[in-house]
Amino acid sequence: MNTEIKVKFWGVRGSIPIPGVKTTKYGGNTSCVEVRLPDCLFIFDAGTGIRELGNQLCAEGKKVKAHIFLSHFHWDHIQGLPFFKPAYMKGNEIIIYGMGLQGERLEHIISNQMESVYFPVRLQSLQAQIKFKKLWEGNYVINGVKVDTLYINHPGRAMGYVISYKNKKICYFTDNEIVPIPLWTDETSQYEYKQDLAEKMLQLIDRADLLIHDAQYTYQEYQNKVGWGHSSIPEVLSLALQGGVKKLVLFHHDPESFDEHIDSHINSCRELIGDEYDIECFAAQEGMEIYL
Ligand SMILES: [Zn+2]
Ligand SMILES: [Zn+2]
Repeated sequence: MNTEIKVKFWGVRGSIPIPGVKTTKYGGNTSCVEVRLPDCLFIFDAGTGIRELGNQLCAEGKKVKAHIFLSHFHWDHIQGLPFFKPAYMKGNEIIIYGMGLQGERLEHIISNQMESVYFPVRLQSLQAQIKFKKLWEGNYVINGVKVDTLYINHPGRAMGYVISYKNKKICYFTDNEIVPIPLWTDETSQYEYKQDLAEKMLQLIDRADLLIHDAQYTYQEYQNKVGWGHSSIPEVLSLALQGGVKKLVLFHHDPESFDEHIDSHINSCRELIGDEYDIECFAAQEGMEIYL
């Protein structure tokens, strides 16, 4: 039996899609990652990248059963959903998972962006069977796959996911601000939250085969963006090294980071790694595939 997992990147950008000549190498679509397991399809986030993934699934000509895990509900993570073609086709089944928010129904959060003032087609008129499942921090088994969830550090919160299948572990942590602990010593509750989060995170990513992590800023850029909910590249690398991660993918590139910038980010990361550490590091790129 084939136990290989394919991970494919369909959208790697943070905040807003940026098509154009300056992003032809890494791509301009917002967050969407396909994780194809031997007998099920997981999709992480539904940014504009999910449109092309949907077209690919339709081209394969089979019934689609997709489990879509949303990190949170900022536009760059849900905006592609109304353009996901399999949702328009009878016989397909789409299960959308998102973090539970007090007093808010997941279905409403998603359907609101398809209200007639914003979009011509209502969620209710889509032909596929669409289900919604709220997740809380904890652990789940979904289609036989272990899924651990963790609330991560982002304005309004986001959810990080870790999936374990056979002996492989994949972590998806986007829109997470890794904060150096000394910054938070002025607020006790924040400090405890950060420490707690840092420990939980290290436990979850421990020796992961693949860590996909928000790395929106360089160290210098981050200094003006503290509290915006994104991480600087050196912090992400340091986390991955502490966790003994095997492959690290820098994800959720800033809309102001063009191809040449991302090339230099990844080169400086690889210089820092040198021969000293046993980790492979990549910048997420539209169309990139990783097999585990
Ligand atoms: Zn985002
Ligand atoms: Zn966000």
